[in-house]
Amino acid sequence: MSQATESDVREDGIIESVSGPVVTARDLDARMNDVVYVGSEGLMGEVIEIEGNITTIQVYEETSGVSPGEPVEGTGAPLSVDLGPGMLDAIYDGVQRPLDVLEEKMGSAFLDRGVDAPGIDLEKTWEFNPEVAEGDAVEPGDIVGSVPETPSIDHKVMVPPDYEGGEVVAIESGNFNVEETVAELDNGEEIQMRQEWPVRSQRPAKEKETPTEPLISGQRVLDGLFPIAKGGTAAIPGPFGSGKTVTQHQLAKWADADIVVYVGCGERGNEMTEVIEDFPELEDPTTGNALMDRTCLIANTSNMPVAARESCVYTGITIAEYFRDMGYDVALMADSTSRWAEAMREISSRLEEMPGEEGYPAYLSARLSEFYERAGYFNNINDTEGSVSVIGAVSPPGGDFSEPVTQNTLRIVKTFWALDADLAERRHFPSINWNESYSLYRDQLDPWFVENVRDDWPETRQWAIDTLDEEAELQEIVQLVGKDALPEDQQLTLEIARYLREAWLQQNAFHDVDTFCEPEKTYRIMDAIQTYNDAAFEALDAGVPVEEITDIDAAPRLNRIGVQEDYNEYIDELEADIQEQLRELY
Ligand code: ADP
Repeated sequence: MSQATESDVREDGIIESVSGPVVTARDLDARMNDVVYVGSEGLMGEVIEIEGNITTIQVYEETSGVSPGEPVEGTGAPLSVDLGPGMLDAIYDGVQRPLDVLEEKMGSAFLDRGVDAPGIDLEKTWEFNPEVAEGDAVEPGDIVGSVPETPSIDHKVMVPPDYEGGEVVAIESGNFNVEETVAELDNGEEIQMRQEWPVRSQRPAKEKETPTEPLISGQRVLDGLFPIAKGGTAAIPGPFGSGKTVTQHQLAKWADADIVVYVGCGERGNEMTEVIEDFPELEDPTTGNALMDRTCLIANTSNMPVAARESCVYTGITIAEYFRDMGYDVALMADSTSRWAEAMREISSRLEEMPGEEGYPAYLSARLSEFYERAGYFNNINDTEGSVSVIGAVSPPGGDFSEPVTQNTLRIVKTFWALDADLAERRHFPSINWNESYSLYRDQLDPWFVENVRDDWPETRQWAIDTLDEEAELQEIVQLVGKDALPEDQQLTLEIARYLREAWLQQNAFHDVDTFCEPEKTYRIMDAIQTYNDAAFEALDAGVPVEEITDIDAAPRLNRIGVQEDYNEYIDELEADIQEQLRELY
């Protein structure tokens, strides 16, 4: 987080009251959303209400020991993030203080109060390569050069969006730190590698476009049944033990995004520690580089102050937008938005606002939608195209999806991946419930799948959906009367649906090959099961008893396609064997 810079309105106020993270001050000259430093320790806070000469502040640090009468210092600037090279591979707290720097300063991972640290290293030098020349005209947002930030990502240095732009009068290559000027314009504007942006304002873009490309995850149930678009929004509610962490890791690892921003918001310390310890070990499967080379982690654990849950969400989305402006596809994962909502509830109740449903403030829905609204596929102001996809985890207490945070989120997001504790208990992974989940992007992404995978992708998928739907209906009857009471064709449908579940929907995140499934393979598995289906129903029509059809020894081999590296050859052979073995029955 940047220190406030426009320090023209510096005027001290006096603390009037302290209630947890909410502090009121008298006689403070500040505007809404300004950053202020609270108390003699200078804790960072943000103005959230002004009434007469009383200013209400939410404080991003622990406030115990702070008392009335202590000073509050205004900065005159809104809460902003530092943007520039050095954010990838970083781990930040909720107000963009790098955890490693703080750890060095404090000697512990638990942050002390009133410590400030710039979001990006101000001394480190980077190799700047100009992409425009003296005499060129540049507009706000234009790329003037790039920096090889990590082995995976070229960081683009852009004219800040709030500059006027003009003709480049000086620019040179070389090694600079982020505060040194790398380009100068004829109107006197100077461009550094570092820029600041207020976290609550969306970075401008020319146009938000309708997303038409999927964010491929390599997970069959997602790409096959519930795809998210690049620039799309998804919610993933995860009751405890349902595989939320594994799913999030899989997405961070495999989603075909250039940049991943992972916001750990208010989850228990040990879960965040898991992420902080795991991520640096992970390898980016497509480049072989460290996954952290394209990842920025923001960690605000449950033992950190609640108000900072809000700032970490906004910090994350602003960083995501900044990389979007460079023309990158960014995936932002927020885990968990429920903890952020709980923070809103706590602050709201301390402000004695009128509570809405289950004590959440009435503006819960507006806040959530403001956040998800910042996702999208954009034509940027520099004419590059970039996207921010937002995947928000929700933790409904007791797995009850009717609670307000889940419900409000569902009204906003277009993809819903319902993790299911029962499936997890039966060791069906990923435990995404195919009956409850949905994706409103399915139709608009079909042309991409038709063009890039197979012509009959939509039809084959529809067949799979219909079969799974039929199974769900038949299961109700089976529970009453048993499977044997069903007519033979329905027994066969159940068998086919079982293969769809076991061979197609289930996927082992811990198997070297099965962990990632390209769309072509997702299609071929589904298609192989359909081949079995068609040949099996032909045999049934020819009078072969259902047990004989389901007993052929080729069929169980369907369950092993996922782990085959040379799946094409394996499937060709398997399909031929299935047809031959069934043909032999009549
Ligand atoms: P949560 O975060 O919801 O509490 P986890 O993500 O830690 O749950 O998952 C619990 C366990 O479920 C994991 O340790 C793992 O054994 C299993 N699991 C979850 N997802 C998968 C998967 N896709 N493939 C294989 N095992 C999985």
